[in-house]
Amino acid sequence: MNLVFLGPPGAGKGTIAALAKDTLRIPHISTGDLFRYAIAHETSLGKQVKAILASGELVPDSVTIEMVKERLVKSDAKDGFILDGFPRTIAQADALAQMTTIDHVINFVLDRDSIVVRLSGRRMCKSTGRIYHITFNPPKVAGIDDETGEPLIQRPDDQEEAILNRLSVYERQTQPLIDYYRHKGLLRDVDASGAPELVLQSILKII
Ligand code: AMP
Repeated sequence: MNLVFLGPPGAGKGTIAALAKDTLRIPHISTGDLFRYAIAHETSLGKQVKAILASGELVPDSVTIEMVKERLVKSDAKDGFILDGFPRTIAQADALAQMTTIDHVINFVLDRDSIVVRLSGRRMCKSTGRIYHITFNPPKVAGIDDETGEPLIQRPDDQEEAILNRLSVYERQTQPLIDYYRHKGLLRDVDASGAPELVLQSILKII
């Protein structure tokens, strides 16, 4: 089962993908996580994209497409995958269509106010990528990861200025993919406003 999770930043794609990957036994491939890993490990890719991620702009298509191409040929993705955060442009969607076929594109639908509340309260464990929210999904001890005991961080691009930029980048560059995939008959709208388990159930029903 080859799935694409599409939707604005903060709609819950990463949270739901982390749940769905265990249920469906396919890997969760997040381009944002791959870039953050490269940045944390100071690879040449990481150095190239660090400032772009902090600003909320998109990494150039050529760089992103090459990274995804290399990831999708790994053996764990041979029976399927959940792509989270890719494609984000029409050029990326065209490139993906050359690489493989997609079964469903899950479109996470959420209003703008809820997005801002979710993103500004989001906290993350840097080493594991585990995601929390200060109100909706707090850790057992404030500011500390439940399993590793490490202090949680706020992503630089979850600060207010970057959030607004990411939303406008989304509206300009990624929203056109909704029509692109609707025309191909692949788009499945999902109400992303509910609790993660409810959103997951809606997705499982669809697929
Ligand atoms: P995310 O974790 O999906 O919100 O992605 C974080 C950041 O990584 C984005 O704001 C972009 O700077 C970069 N990024 C992630 N996926 C892509 C993509 N498909 N194309 C270009 N840039 C991306």
